[in-house]
Amino acid sequence: MQIMRGRFAPSPTGEIHLGNAWTALLSWLQVRSAGGTMVLRIEDLDPDRSRPAYIAGLMSDMKWLGLDWDEGPDVGGRYAPYTQGQRRELYQAALDRLAAAGLVYPCYCTRAELAASAPHAGDNERIYPGTCRQRQGDAARKAARQPALRLAVPPGEIAFTDLHYGPVVQDVSREVGDFIVRRSDGVHAYQLAVVVDDAAMGITHVLRGQDLLSSTPRQLLLYRLLQMNAPAFTHVPLLIDAAGNRLSKRQQGLALAALRAKGVRPEAIIGYLAFKAGLIDVCQPVKAVELISCFDAAKLPQDNVIVDSRLPM
Ligand code: GLU
Repeated sequence: MQIMRGRFAPSPTGEIHLGNAWTALLSWLQVRSAGGTMVLRIEDLDPDRSRPAYIAGLMSDMKWLGLDWDEGPDVGGRYAPYTQGQRRELYQAALDRLAAAGLVYPCYCTRAELAASAPHAGDNERIYPGTCRQRQGDAARKAARQPALRLAVPPGEIAFTDLHYGPVVQDVSREVGDFIVRRSDGVHAYQLAVVVDDAAMGITHVLRGQDLLSSTPRQLLLYRLLQMNAPAFTHVPLLIDAAGNRLSKRQQGLALAALRAKGVRPEAIIGYLAFKAGLIDVCQPVKAVELISCFDAAKLPQDNVIVDSRLPM
């Protein structure tokens, strides 16, 4: 039987907070309860937002929580390097393959043009109307700026079964449009990099926040076009505040570093998260390792989970 390979793939753009700990704990439990291999991959693709100091911080916070990994930037492994900033050639090679198949085109649209032309597809995203797919020969536009690269998305539905949320169907060409695979500043897009990495690292199971559920059809399309094996996906509810906003790096009081500094014990955090995940009946301190035998993704709620501003810790 194939050994499960899962991963936690944080972006080092701030101190990790309770919401990151939640995803890290659940992906760790999924892997550990199956006797699998846990990978830590640092998604530092965006040079403007990533900081090396946050990488050290998140590794220290995870160890403090009792969450370990078998392969990662510090311990290495067969699929090293485990930091996206060092894997750009792989993304470019995948992009070259897509381009050779005629599936990629340059896009010269400005932000303002995109805002004016495209309806919203969801959070911050807009359906790209394909403007530059038809406008290949426009020299004035070409001279003006470096292009982004977009995937020429073929029509048709992408369907998959999420292991928590069930069947999902999306026609990417209609609901998202031709999406960016390399930004105009040369940075490869998350959608491409995550596919290349999960495939290259032999990841069999991805567990991550449900904010990425709507990205998964795009990623499955890329797996198909690149002829790579896709993992199974489990999306989990997000931690949100009382106003319904997802916890973010802006809520510094919920940063693990802040909680640690206040004297909160890791067992208290793990116990709180496990209780919210439905893994234990009473909110009480517990070690991550003690949850391995009771992990069951079916116990997780479907709705996002509200975190009270005054944590019971
Ligand atoms: N790097 C992404 C994030 O921190 C996660 C990507 C993924 O799990 O696919 O939100």
